[in-house]
Amino acid sequence: MSQELEESLNLLSNDWFVDPIIKNFILGNRSDVTDFAIKVRDVIFHIPYLTNDDSYILWKCYWPDCHNCCNRQGRLPLTSNDLVTISTRLKYQKVSDFIKNETNIATWQEKGPSDNSATTMTMINLKRKKDESIEEDGTHISCRFLDEKGYCGLHPARPGVCFLYPFSSWLENERGRARVHATFQFTGDCPGFYLSKSIGTMKEILLEYSKIIYDYNMSSNRTTRENFGFVTIGF
Ligand code: SF4
Ligand code: SF4
Repeated sequence: MSQELEESLNLLSNDWFVDPIIKNFILGNRSDVTDFAIKVRDVIFHIPYLTNDDSYILWKCYWPDCHNCCNRQGRLPLTSNDLVTISTRLKYQKVSDFIKNETNIATWQEKGPSDNSATTMTMINLKRKKDESIEEDGTHISCRFLDEKGYCGLHPARPGVCFLYPFSSWLENERGRARVHATFQFTGDCPGFYLSKSIGTMKEILLEYSKIIYDYNMSSNRTTRENFGFVTIGF
């Protein structure tokens, strides 16, 4: 895994500046990482904080100058809403025909933000190339819907997971109520991560994504992860 991450980061460094501190963190070489949990509207975001540098790892998107996530997609899991909107977009009359022709069913492990626990996920994935096999799940494939200008041919019906990137999210049971959590997934393919002394520089993005992430989780069957505490900050 770390060799794959290193390869991704080296490729990324050909075109973008990657802060050596962030590179080291992604490669798992930092032992001073804490999970800073912040509640923004209905979502609890888990942001990595590097104690020795007194810095948060935050994110912004460089699209349209960058479309690396579409160029190096690992998988495109679909929610039940995605199945309907994308099959309609691709002019299928029956969702069952869309599933048969355009998707694979895959199982994989998702890791927590600052622990080593893993959760098994099974979902229907959109094929990133017409003849994608199940064995290719998790490998980097340039998505067939990406055009030469960096636009998505499915937009606005693109999969929810594409709207979410580079966040991953899950539901947790909080005193009998579903609570949505989100964290960054560090695949080594996104140049948008940066260090900041203050989380406020990401305020607008967290507000925007809290709605996207909440809606995504309410339209999909997600698994739960336990034992994350959080603080509330009034944005
Ligand atoms: S999310 Fe990251 S990889 Fe994707 S377009 Fe934005 S900056 Fe590029
Ligand atoms: S479906 Fe669209 S947004 Fe998602 S990876 Fe493909 S081109 Fe990118």
